[in-house]
Amino acid sequence: MRIKVIGSSVDGSRCQFAASYLFNDYLAIDAGSIGFMSVAAQKRVKHIVLSHSHLDHIASLPIFVDNVYEPRPESVVVYGMPSVIASLQANLFNDLVWPDVVRLSQEESPFIEFVAIENLRPIQLGDLLLTPVALDHVVPTFGFIVDDGVSAAVLVSDTGPTELIWEHASRTARLKCVMLESAFPDSMTWLAEKTKHLTPALMQLEFDKLEHPARHDIKLLVVHIKPAYYEEVTAELNALKLPNLQISEPNGEYEI
Ligand SMILES: [Zn+2]
Ligand SMILES: [Zn+2]
Repeated sequence: MRIKVIGSSVDGSRCQFAASYLFNDYLAIDAGSIGFMSVAAQKRVKHIVLSHSHLDHIASLPIFVDNVYEPRPESVVVYGMPSVIASLQANLFNDLVWPDVVRLSQEESPFIEFVAIENLRPIQLGDLLLTPVALDHVVPTFGFIVDDGVSAAVLVSDTGPTELIWEHASRTARLKCVMLESAFPDSMTWLAEKTKHLTPALMQLEFDKLEHPARHDIKLLVVHIKPAYYEEVTAELNALKLPNLQISEPNGEYEI
């Protein structure tokens, strides 16, 4: 499985300003910056799955829809929990911030199709089996287990301390990679608690919840570091001296 952390900077910054991840080029989880990839790369994306409604995870979705639109019977499919789909329709595709693509899709060739997903109900997207698992964030949020039959990855972001996804990740036989957030430095644990994010110390406690027979061979790929605290967080992550920890790079590609 090929995983790509989509970059979100226009001047080569190492920071991740918005969140989106590509699996085997055709499945995007979150849409923070997919609309800023090359048009060819955007046209390869067939499915977009949204973790939650926060702006850093949906920011480029309207741009993406505009970039890939062609008048034909099929359109890009966007998956999210019902409250996320409702929020997009009320707050984004509302004829004010962006045209109401749902109404336009009924009148013209479709621009977008929304499909509701449910906690712990897997969906098959091409070769990838995707299982949404509820996390613990300030708004309802899914993490995801992505399995192609050879290897599997779990994306745990955005979240504060959580339980359910570790139970399921621990039972995922082919698990090769845990993508885990570490938003704030340890000195801002108070803000991480209020906003339901993790710090390096909290992240380590989360990773310790993984009870997997191959745990020592599983890559821990850190994502979603708040740019304002990038240096502090990365210093704290490196100080943990976890052997398989890797801090993700914008446009970094990871083969598992
Ligand atoms: Zn969030
Ligand atoms: Zn976020």
